Amino acid sequence: MSPRGRGRPVNFDQTAREQYLTAVASGLPLADAAATVGITPQWANRVAATDPSFHTARDLAKKEGKRVRAEQLAHGEYRYNHHGCRCGICCTEASQARTERRHAAAADATAAEPQPPPEVIDLPQLAPGRGPSEAPPLLARAS
Ligand SMILES: [Zn+2]
Repeated sequence: MSPRGRGRPVNFDQTAREQYLTAVASGLPLADAAATVGITPQWANRVAATDPSFHTARDLAKKEGKRVRAEQLAHGEYRYNHHGCRCGICCTEASQARTERRHAAAADATAAEPQPPPEVIDLPQLAPGRGPSEAPPLLARAS
């Protein structure tokens, strides 16, 4: 039997919490940050749910991690579209890619075969006496 006792979570002391928060703030996904200190992401969530100061600290670390991840992202169309970067690189690449897609779409449109006109089909006949033509129009009934 483990000296910690059955079902008892691994030690997540102040030192481990700080290491975890540092890992989160460095941009690691929460599961990976938890793994660096040997806990499950669920356990980190549980501590956050019961310890308001840890919850607040983790929220700040998550925000910082998100910022770090966005900064590490290469400049280009993706960053322009999904992270709102409007630097010269992102604007140029997004604009070029957009132009290329428009030209490709225009080329596709001219290359495409003309569409045949819509085909007229006969609708099945309703059984006599049961179709809507038997019922008087609503306006006629109202007058
Ligand atoms: Zn950019």
